[in-house]
Amino acid sequence: MTAAAPPQVAPLVDGRGRAVTYLRLSLTARCNFRCTYCSPAPDGADEGLRREEAARLVRLFAGLGVRRVRLTGGEPTLRPDLAGVAADAAATPGVEEVALTTNGQRLAELAAPLRAAGVSRLNVSLDTLRPERLASLAGRAADLARILRGVEAAAAAGFASLKLNAVVLRGGNEDELGELCRFAWRHGAVPRFIELMPFGPGEPVPIAEVKRLLAAQGVRLEPDATRGWGPAVHMRGRSGAASGLVGFIGAMSESFCEGCNRVRVGADGALRSCLGGRDRVPLLPMLRAGAGDAELAEAVRRALRDKAERHAMGDAARGPLLPMRGTGG
Ligand code: SAM
Ligand code: SF4
Repeated sequence: MTAAAPPQVAPLVDGRGRAVTYLRLSLTARCNFRCTYCSPAPDGADEGLRREEAARLVRLFAGLGVRRVRLTGGEPTLRPDLAGVAADAAATPGVEEVALTTNGQRLAELAAPLRAAGVSRLNVSLDTLRPERLASLAGRAADLARILRGVEAAAAAGFASLKLNAVVLRGGNEDELGELCRFAWRHGAVPRFIELMPFGPGEPVPIAEVKRLLAAQGVRLEPDATRGWGPAVHMRGRSGAASGLVGFIGAMSESFCEGCNRVRVGADGALRSCLGGRDRVPLLPMLRAGAGDAELAEAVRRALRDKAERHAMGDAARGPLLPMRGTGG
């Protein structure tokens, strides 16, 4: 259900003329997994936003033209109030879609309540279908059988969209990309392959190579016109009698930033205009000091005016990236 449209003010546009319609909100920097490629957040960046603060920021951004909100983390399902946060976002005038990204470990019990709370689109991170690999990629706490039960529960819960995201890791999971596609299609999900970004160690496998690997693993790819809200490019895949869409997110080798429509608020309550940027605008202290919407909106607009045309994630000389676990992908 879409709530009534918010009052009209000038919509958010970044300094390059790109309309900003998508907010990614990291609800916690904590995580039950330890993925090798995902950098931890510094101490104290754990859980900046209380439920009512998250709701206030969603209202603020919706009033500025944001139409989609994604809840992420760290691991958002560690927040006991996650369904409440999602319901607040879904009830916010102007918000058309509430999405969630999770590692799936707690999804078997949460898929139905989250759907009922108004989450309509779900992304589950699933890099491998092999338990021993999952343990080495994500740590001993990661339980593949539980995650797979979570995917089944998500498939049954009736989300408008279910995506299974895999970061492609050289020497890690590059030999099971075809299997991941077939698994996703069996569950009515779209498999998506993400190029590794330099938040942790490892060398990215370029999307062009991912496509060659898929072909070698029995997935024929054809062009497809499907476009989503984000930077993913879709193709139609076929493998034997099975077929479905496949998404590719070429964060490092492709035009990831073209048409970027998103803004992020991290678990520290600070705005990040770019995933690959180094700057943040601390909105939370302003909010706690009683700043009004006009003052907060001006801080947001100022940050977006300076947003770069392209990320410079690979440029180590510019200093370390902001930690992935506090930003949320
Ligand atoms: N914990 C949740 C999960 O894993 O789905 C949500 C947060 S996680 C930071 C969001 C997404 O970022 C996941 O799909 C994860 O695979 C991706 N990610 C983390 N580190 C990455 C990296 N270095 N390169 C590419 N994607 C990364
Ligand atoms: Fe946790 Fe997600 Fe990062 Fe893995 S990618 S450590 S599940 S926040």
